[in-house]
Amino acid sequence: MKKWVYNFEEVTAAEKYAGNWEGVRSLLGGKGAGLFDMTRAGVPVPPGFTVTTEACNEFRKTGKFPAGQWDQQLAAMKVTEKKAGKKFGDPKNPLLVSCRSGAKFSMPGMMNTILNIGLNDKVVDGLTNLTGNARFAWDSYRRLIEMFGETVFNLDDEVFEHPMAEYKEKKGYKLDTEMTAEDWKELVSIFKDVFQKELGFEFPQDVYKQLELATKAVFESWNGKRAIAYRKKEGISDDLGTAVNIVTMVFGNMGDDSGTGVAFTRNPSTGDKKMMGEYLLNAQGEDVVAGIRNADPIVHLNDQMPKAYKQFMEITGKLEKHYKDMQDVEFTIERGKLWMLQTRNGKRTAKSAVKIAVDMANEGLITKEQAVLRVTPDNVDSLLHPQFDVEAMNSAEKDGTFFAKGVNASPGAAVGQVYFDADKAEQMAKEEKQDTIMVRPFTKPDDVHGMIASKGVLTSEGGATSHAAVVARQFGIPCVVGASSIKIDLERRVMVVDGKGVNEGEWISVDGNTGKVFIGKIPTISPSLEKQTELLTLLTWADEISARKDVREAPAKGYPTRGLQVWANADYPKDAQRARAYGAVGIGLCRTEHMFFEPERLPIVQRMILSETSEGRTAALNELLPYQRKDFDGLFEAMNGYPVIIRLIDPPLHEFMPDEEKLLEEVITMRVKNETDGLKAKEDLLVAIKGMHESNPMMGMRGVRLSISMPEIVEMQVRAIFEAAADCTLRGIVVKPEVMIPLTGTVKELEWIQPRLERIASAVMDEKKVKFEYKFGTMIEIPRAAVTAAEIAGHAQFFSFGTNDLTQMTYGYSRDDAERNFLITYQEQGILETNPFQTIDRGGVGKLMDWAIAEGRKTRPELEVGICGEHGGDPNSIEWCHLIGNNYVSCSPFRVPIARLAAAHAALKHRPAKKAAAPKKKPAVKKAVKKVAKAKTAKKK
Ligand code: PEP
Ligand code: MG
Repeated sequence: MKKWVYNFEEVTAAEKYAGNWEGVRSLLGGKGAGLFDMTRAGVPVPPGFTVTTEACNEFRKTGKFPAGQWDQQLAAMKVTEKKAGKKFGDPKNPLLVSCRSGAKFSMPGMMNTILNIGLNDKVVDGLTNLTGNARFAWDSYRRLIEMFGETVFNLDDEVFEHPMAEYKEKKGYKLDTEMTAEDWKELVSIFKDVFQKELGFEFPQDVYKQLELATKAVFESWNGKRAIAYRKKEGISDDLGTAVNIVTMVFGNMGDDSGTGVAFTRNPSTGDKKMMGEYLLNAQGEDVVAGIRNADPIVHLNDQMPKAYKQFMEITGKLEKHYKDMQDVEFTIERGKLWMLQTRNGKRTAKSAVKIAVDMANEGLITKEQAVLRVTPDNVDSLLHPQFDVEAMNSAEKDGTFFAKGVNASPGAAVGQVYFDADKAEQMAKEEKQDTIMVRPFTKPDDVHGMIASKGVLTSEGGATSHAAVVARQFGIPCVVGASSIKIDLERRVMVVDGKGVNEGEWISVDGNTGKVFIGKIPTISPSLEKQTELLTLLTWADEISARKDVREAPAKGYPTRGLQVWANADYPKDAQRARAYGAVGIGLCRTEHMFFEPERLPIVQRMILSETSEGRTAALNELLPYQRKDFDGLFEAMNGYPVIIRLIDPPLHEFMPDEEKLLEEVITMRVKNETDGLKAKEDLLVAIKGMHESNPMMGMRGVRLSISMPEIVEMQVRAIFEAAADCTLRGIVVKPEVMIPLTGTVKELEWIQPRLERIASAVMDEKKVKFEYKFGTMIEIPRAAVTAAEIAGHAQFFSFGTNDLTQMTYGYSRDDAERNFLITYQEQGILETNPFQTIDRGGVGKLMDWAIAEGRKTRPELEVGICGEHGGDPNSIEWCHLIGNNYVSCSPFRVPIARLAAAHAALKHRPAKKAAAPKKKPAVKKAVKKVAKAKTAKKK
């Protein structure tokens, strides 16, 4: 019979069955595995058992427990009863249990948990006798009925909350703590009536029925709406299933020598190495997590229960060392005795992720490689996200737009329109494309969709470990919680502080760094990387990993064995400086045409385009030359010692001309008004622009085709590049110019243009009497170029994949229109898994790249290969570039830090397996003897 249920002591059996610890986590879920591991380590964990994820998956298939599961649960209950010294359903000495979900990857608050199972009309009296605390017993019973109704039978929480609020009002109570034993008893009877009325049957008195229904409800919650949405967002597979942990209840609400809390072994917001947690005396866990009552900081426990506090600090210290990561723990103290209910790796902000990783590596707890792997490219992205301008915040405070202050639960700046419930916040964000801020008294798991859709979250209640805080941190959403001066009127859709009101739909600014909230919009600025020392350290480690020789296996000659370098796309010296500051070690693309658009240059460019003779063009270009030389000079200077790839003019010329429709309107207006002055010039211009019209300009006269038709432009550009490079060399700057020819489709194009340009390069070096390294290469943007890469590499000394165009041309999707049209439907319908303009389509575009590199290096083994399309900053595409043998990726300067981390991740993830020692050769003598023996037998025949 298959084993579906494991007692907490059976960790060895689970390991044996699952093969390794990863397997145990899959089988028992993260929470379960933690409980088993803690039990093994002698940590005080209440006795219990776990029903496996495999049982859940069987249940999901058939709607029934698999054969044997229930009997095994009954047997495990017997073991638990023995260990706890209590009996399930026995009024004289009752055992109560919780039934908790726990998947392999933590999904906080997304699935069901039911507490206090095992209470009924008789057991409640037994519990009263046993504890001498009738108030506690009846309160526990009412909690069970409420949770059962809500989680097992999906009743709305309102159906219980409403009568409870009414009851409290009738009695004149404000807080739950004012309720007496009699009151709770009364409420149990009210809740039982509600249960019967809503569901048509009575609350189950059979405790085993309760256990069975609760187990099923936890299984089913795997497919609940919020769980599915969460998995989608987090990329967790739908097939894993959840385990069910059945754990002896220990009570934090047995009086003032009891309590319950949650804590993080390091600060999950800042990463500081200091325990951060909260607890409540005389309360149950849900009270702390829901943030409904404001909890006490964990250090106060030292004053109230020093012995328990000391033990707690020792245990959590050990847990952190054991798991080598920041732990998020739940604990309960029952009449002075500490119980650990859960430990797991804590969710954290990006800032904290980086600090904890770097600190732990420095403490020797983890390796630098592990530290690098602990931080995600998304973490780095959010650390470079805008923050509020401090000066603007200060002046807003003086201007009286300061609204409230709460706990700075999740960092970042959020500006948006206020909505007071999750559905509305989501709807306005998705359908109206608004920036929204979700504002609630506190949040519950049902609110997560609204939080994810919003730019920020604000609550008036709860602390740093409340649901809102934990979820916001996990998703990197700026969040302020517990801004208690705010009074939220959900009916009137307004929030008020001291007479100042903010209505639904109005703008506010929420600062997750300081906890401050302002009315209106506050400007934001980009944070500087230079000040983020831990991140800089981590990125240096990432670079060290990527720079390692043999971090890649080289299947062919020329294939790099180091990891990817990160270069940047930069057009101007100031971009190049930022690229350097962000750690780029080359410029992979300078789009020279951008410089043509500058106001003093555009008229010259237009004159050049309109001139009908080569001489006319050359005259205009001679005027442009000094500008371009200056541009390139600045780039070389900024990139002293590093390669700079300058791409020759690429776009169709009409892009530099005035808008045809606008010009036509002007001409018509002049004609109607009979204005003759300047009319002829405009008419001529219109004719010229019309003459340049193309039906498919992206597939028309651009790139190398334009250079062949009008070589004067690129001849000027190459002269400007080499003159600037020569001047810089003479000033002592080390230049490495690489001239890039765009949109090549056939090698014949290179054969035509490249020698002319190379002649200019040599001529300039002769004129200036200097020599420096340089290269001529091409972009691979057209499938034909990729397919014929072996020929192309005969001329090109380097390739750079222009994956924007390569994707456009491979799919035949217009890069300018597809993303706002059918691509959305294609993604919704699952025809495309991801947007191919964001993430390389490995099966098509990626294959072409792979082929092009392999073919190119057959001709030219030292061929340098990069990528400069938008994909160069996308982690998934970076991984692909690593796998196919790119030398570098080039992306926007702002994405350089993300790319550096992604490159290191790719290197670590695909590290070549260590080669096994070659098998020892059999001694040659023996072989020789065998041969002789064979020969002898052959002769005999
Ligand atoms: C490309 O096509 O990927 C590229 C970098 O060139 P552009 O975007 O300028 O066409
Ligand atoms: Mg292109």
